[in-house]
Amino acid sequence: MMLTTTEPTILRGGEWLLQPSEADAVFTPERVTDEHRLIRRTAEQFVDNEVLPKLEQLEQKDWALSRDLVKRAAGLGLLGVDVPEAYGGLGLDKVTSLVVSETLARAASFGATFGAHANLTIVPLVLFGTEAQKQKYLPGLLSGEIIGAYALSETGSGSDALGARTKATRQPDGSFLLNGEKMWITNGGFADLFVVFCKVDGDQFTALLVERGFGVKSGKEEHKTGLHGSSTTALVFQDVRVPADNVLSEVGKGHKVAFNVLNFARFKLGAMCSGGAHSAIAESAKYAAARRQFGQPIASFGAIKHKIGEMVVRTYAVESLLYRIAGLVDARIAATPHDATDGSAALAAFEEYAVEASIAKVAGSETLNYVLDENIQIHGGNGYVRDYPAERHFRDARVNRIFEGTNEINRLLIPGMLIRRAVKGDLPLIPAAKALQEELLGPPSMPAPGDVDGVLADERRAIMSFKKTALMVFGLAMQTYGAKLTDEQEVLMHMADIAIDVYSAESATLRAQAASGKNVPRAALHVDAARVFVNDAALRIDASARQALAAMVDGDTLRTMLAALRRLLKVTPINTVAARRRLADATVERAGYPLA
Ligand SMILES: Cc1cc2nc3c(=O)[nH]c(=O)nc-3n(C[C@H](O)[C@H](O)[C@H](O)COP(=O)(O)OP(=O)(O)OC[C@H]3O[C@@H](n4cnc5c(N)ncnc54)[C@H](O)[C@@H]3O)c2cc1C
Repeated sequence: MMLTTTEPTILRGGEWLLQPSEADAVFTPERVTDEHRLIRRTAEQFVDNEVLPKLEQLEQKDWALSRDLVKRAAGLGLLGVDVPEAYGGLGLDKVTSLVVSETLARAASFGATFGAHANLTIVPLVLFGTEAQKQKYLPGLLSGEIIGAYALSETGSGSDALGARTKATRQPDGSFLLNGEKMWITNGGFADLFVVFCKVDGDQFTALLVERGFGVKSGKEEHKTGLHGSSTTALVFQDVRVPADNVLSEVGKGHKVAFNVLNFARFKLGAMCSGGAHSAIAESAKYAAARRQFGQPIASFGAIKHKIGEMVVRTYAVESLLYRIAGLVDARIAATPHDATDGSAALAAFEEYAVEASIAKVAGSETLNYVLDENIQIHGGNGYVRDYPAERHFRDARVNRIFEGTNEINRLLIPGMLIRRAVKGDLPLIPAAKALQEELLGPPSMPAPGDVDGVLADERRAIMSFKKTALMVFGLAMQTYGAKLTDEQEVLMHMADIAIDVYSAESATLRAQAASGKNVPRAALHVDAARVFVNDAALRIDASARQALAAMVDGDTLRTMLAALRRLLKVTPINTVAARRRLADATVERAGYPLA
């Protein structure tokens, strides 16, 4: 199998499943530049001084205020991070996009408004717009004069986005007549420009740029569980005439726009979730320090330390994988010769790392959900009432598992895309799985203790075993089901869970390894966080693998595979109680996430 120690600096998408990475080659939050820090401070000040004090007003659906805040964000350059300078943007790297998304998440409702405008309208225009479309619409979008929205979902087609029924009929002069209805559109109540997906002349899935002034009508505001400060409405198109020049990309190529934009948006959603988790950890830490029961702060109780420690561990892993992805995308763009005005290098990079973007979305949204649920629990009764923000965060965050592709759809995509790459020959997964099969049938060949040494050696060895476990399950699934694997969703979900844990565990470990090597502040806590994550990932991967294997084989074959699994996943437990206590104590002492 291909678990070697030599690897390219820039791994291709999915290659991490087959190869180790070097800690020095991976981008981490500790490697951000002064420019990144400056933009983070700018975004923080904007959120703290301009958005959070007006949250109540936003929740009362004061859309004039939303528009004004978008303009203010524009004034600070926050809308133009992903836009080339030639079009009035800042043309900055994806680490900067990540930093901005993380920070804006502190005000989730405004984060949704911002995301629909910047990530789902400006980005598709930059990536797919013609020169004339960019010249026409980007200045207004970048200044916040016009607000954007992205209209893909319909009553009958959410996950099944290509099943859209909104239709556009070509007219003799080349223009289109648009008819149909979209659902749940963020910024739907007040946006001026919509990226609308429809079927042209029957079945050609296409993206159109549709101005409100062409005749778009908004439905009433939805009564949502959370995100009350963002607008979500239906959109109605009745014989809306759209000029021929307003096709985004090409007629029949709407799926390219939709899916590529979602790759980028999923990564950014993961970033927003990581930012939300940071804020909630700070709230929990402060509350646990202040709240006294039985004569002592609740932060002194082991049960609460466990929660805070685990919140930090999971957030650490998500944050590590997000910065790793941003670094990969930036490196890939930098290595691709391209004109600064041309979005195709960014497009190709996000296509390359689409699996990783789906992992970021699922891991980010589920970590945030966990963190916010425990934040409520730490607040006790106060977590359940509106006097404290914990319940609002919980409500606001729930939708992250639903939009930008539900977590089920993203889980299907993760193994699906990996296997597609393998079949196309872009990822040598099939030969690696075959080689592993031979290795497992032969005498034990786990790495000898001397093969991996130094800091986190046990964890790095464990991760090699995780990858072999993933290969064993992927290999058996492809062999057992062939092309019918798509019908076996339960097995695919287990495969996705294993892949998510492998990527998260490796990202956390590489980061902690780098932190130790460079003596960054609190490096020992980085190591604690990575070790706890790897320890628990081993248990989760074991459970997923056992269930997947038992769904595919039985009898002696199953027994042989389970014996191989036991041999692979022989991970000695660490003292996670002590490690989580150290993490929790540091969090409470610093009144916030201790690894920032
Ligand atoms: C607050 C909010 C804002 C939104 N903003 C926007 C926006 O700006 N633009 C936009 O276009 N849309 C937006 N949406 C819509 C959102 O993207 C969809 O709700 C989402 O894609 C899921 O579609 P659905 O609601 O139709 O659920 P369904 O697709 O009906 O899914 C229901 C359940 O079935 C599962 N499921 C569906 N298909 C499969 C399958 N093949 N295999 C296994 N499980 C499956 C899903 O995972 C889910 O658990 C927003 C939604 C909300 C709630």
